[in-house]
Amino acid sequence: MKVFNDVLDMQSYSKGLRLKGKTIGFVPTMGALHEGHLSLVKRSLEENDITVVSIFVNPIQFGPQEDLDRYPRDLEGDRKKLESLGVDALFLPTPEKMYPEGFKTYVTVEGLSEKLCGAFRPGHFRGVTTVVLKLFNIVKPTRAYFGLKDFQQTLIIKTMVRDLNLDIEIVPCPTVREPDGLAMSSRNSYLSEDERRGANLIYLAMKEAEKTLMESMSFSRAVETLNEHLRKSPHVREIQYASLYDPETLEDLRDVDVKIYGKKEAVFAVALLYGKARLIDNLIVKIGGRE
Ligand code: AMP
Repeated sequence: MKVFNDVLDMQSYSKGLRLKGKTIGFVPTMGALHEGHLSLVKRSLEENDITVVSIFVNPIQFGPQEDLDRYPRDLEGDRKKLESLGVDALFLPTPEKMYPEGFKTYVTVEGLSEKLCGAFRPGHFRGVTTVVLKLFNIVKPTRAYFGLKDFQQTLIIKTMVRDLNLDIEIVPCPTVREPDGLAMSSRNSYLSEDERRGANLIYLAMKEAEKTLMESMSFSRAVETLNEHLRKSPHVREIQYASLYDPETLEDLRDVDVKIYGKKEAVFAVALLYGKARLIDNLIVKIGGRE
């Protein structure tokens, strides 16, 4: 596996491959890799000639009070996992190489970046779209793989790619969960043993809410069920958001009549301050009988 620390080295490696007609699959990550990340990597390996993974804890997507300094890092472990899967290249830039002095340009997807997580993490998605656009220009992928675990992020990236006419296929990949339903996340390592035991509550609450939705065909009742379940846990410090949303616009559907909602799918999405972590998760649901 080739390892690149330098932007120009990475860029010229990719340029050479694209000139030879090779397809490049790309998986951007912040490291501390788990099976969720690796599912994206495996998919890329299946679908492309070359697979590139980046590990970069991007400072501009963290707020001043957030966990940039304590974000889990395991570079040696990550490198071994990627090597054993057969990844072709690992891109490991430093913040100084990505944001040299004088850096001035940011990209924002308006209208989606302020909602859900964006309301609680101002500037977060601007940091994400800016770094992803830079990584796309450096790695030059044919396809890029993103997890539906971060539903809003994947939607925002897809929108950026469409609006800026980037010639890259965005491949959304299903959420990989622990056996008890907890969505895998590097941040789960912040949880104490006791907190970890109850941390599948978001998944269980969303499954209950889905059941309510199917039985009642009422968005507001489903959202009530969701919140009732989330409030039961002693570890929940704050429910930042917990509702059902339009998966294209992120409009909150709780006050919408199912009969006038014309779409086939909706998405439950939740963010909690839970124990020592901030947890997010979501569940895409079909609206009964709509094909
Ligand atoms: P991160 O390192 O958290 O920035 O995540 C890098 C990529 O892996 C993003 O596209 C995430 O959506 C994806 N990802 C993280 N956790 C999971 C998971 N449990 N299942 C599927 N994809 C995931």
